[in-house]
Amino acid sequence: MGKRYELPALPYNYNALEPYISEQIMKLHHGKHHAAYVTGANAALEKLEKARKEGSPIDMRAVLRDYSFNFGGHVLHSMFWENMAAPGRGGGKPGGKIADKINADFGSLDTFKAQFSDAAKTVEGSGWALLLYDANIDQLVLTQVEKQNLMHLAGLPIILGLDVWEHAYYLQYWNDRGKYVEAWWNVLNWEDADKRLGKVQK
Ligand code: MN
Repeated sequence: MGKRYELPALPYNYNALEPYISEQIMKLHHGKHHAAYVTGANAALEKLEKARKEGSPIDMRAVLRDYSFNFGGHVLHSMFWENMAAPGRGGGKPGGKIADKINADFGSLDTFKAQFSDAAKTVEGSGWALLLYDANIDQLVLTQVEKQNLMHLAGLPIILGLDVWEHAYYLQYWNDRGKYVEAWWNVLNWEDADKRLGKVQK
């Protein structure tokens, strides 16, 4: 039996992002939703292993779709937790390479925030806004991901991301995704984004 995916611990307490993201949301989001993606990804791996071992037929397309969905959820949420920090440590303005790169590629921090927020607010249904780095053109690029596995730009490393599934905000912001997106900037961990960019920038 191969290795399995594991739910990572949050790098802070469940109430650390208050008042911007409530303890209740974080408990459900990490302990239930993310945990379910880990279980789902492992279940897909197990089905594939079992079929290999027993030579039994499986609904390959369905299993691989489950795997893609759950694996995508696991990877994105693992990053999302690190992308945030308690207000004070999170929020404010970036420093380091990420600040220079945002200025170079977007013109200013305010322009970046406006465009990233727009991307987050306009995701159709459940999904994510992501900032990626494309080493081929040495540029930060924006994308929206539908659900957690569709429309992603294959192979590009993620610098930061914002979950705009309803489970990420509904209990606190109800249907006002825009208000959640604006509040989220207060807990964005710029240091983490800078570290991620530093790892992949040429
Ligand atoms: Mn989520």
